Amino acid sequence: MKILVCISNVPDTTTKITFTDNNTQFNTAGVQFILNPYDEIALARAIELTDGDKGTITVINVGETNTEPTIRKALAIGAHDAVRINAKPHDAWFVACQIAQYIKANPFDLVLTGRESIDYNGSKVAGMLGELLDLPSVSIIKKLDVEGNNATVEREIEGGKELLTIPLPFIAGTAEGVAEPKIPNMRGIMSARTKPLTIVEPVDVQTNLEVISYETPAPRGQVKLVPADDVAQLVELLHTEARVI
Ligand SMILES: Cc1cc2nc3c(=O)[nH]c(=O)nc-3n(C[C@H](O)[C@H](O)[C@H](O)COP(=O)(O)OP(=O)(O)OC[C@H]3O[C@@H](n4cnc5c(N)ncnc54)[C@H](O)[C@@H]3O)c2cc1C
Repeated sequence: MKILVCISNVPDTTTKITFTDNNTQFNTAGVQFILNPYDEIALARAIELTDGDKGTITVINVGETNTEPTIRKALAIGAHDAVRINAKPHDAWFVACQIAQYIKANPFDLVLTGRESIDYNGSKVAGMLGELLDLPSVSIIKKLDVEGNNATVEREIEGGKELLTIPLPFIAGTAEGVAEPKIPNMRGIMSARTKPLTIVEPVDVQTNLEVISYETPAPRGQVKLVPADDVAQLVELLHTEARVI
């Protein structure tokens, strides 16, 4: 089984977000970038599914040279090889078109993405890939098993679970529960240096998205502490100050 895992290079979750250029660009100065946590989960499940020489895992990233440490981390965790499409990932449409083009020329049995990229949180790439490749696309999956040419997938839905069977190939956006992220060991870190990383030039894609401006959430209001046994005061404050009851 040939699995492609799409990986995005995202700011560390503790990053203090600021903007430049009149609030139209994310300020990357001093920001530590990491492998998108949901993509780590996808990669971990891919490793489990191919355990015992049952397949190969390629990771793909649309990004410039600065994403290579993240790609090498994915190789250290256990991907066999990597592809970097050499372009700034303008938006989800641009990213999906680039990856779809690569898949058309290099088909896979299974394409995994994370449920969302924790930077722009669009949850768009998996659906777009399905449409561009005319393949089924299932999002926010909590369980994924493959038996022969069919997969069983579990999704969490409002008030319950949805169980689906899907023939390969298809696109799956993975969420928590699919697998536990794996930590690279020393052997993985050493071998990652020499695993193949192919650089592919991007195809022309017209993107119509234009960011007007970004803004950070308003700072949190002051906190008032109420003694745990003073329910009367709590109710009073919720009524007169917070005005929520
Ligand atoms: C400097 C910089 C500026 C950017 N500016 C913008 C911007 O202005 N607007 C904007 O929308 N995006 C911007 N991006 C791109 C952004 O990082 C995302 O890659 C892209 O927009 C998809 O975002 P999403 O939230 O819709 O992805 P989602 O659909 O939430 O991502 C789902 C999954 O798709 C896959 N995926 C997402 N991105 C990539 C990727 N680059 N390569 C491989 N797989 C991927 C991952 O598996 C991810 O878990 C910028 C990136 C950089 C580095």
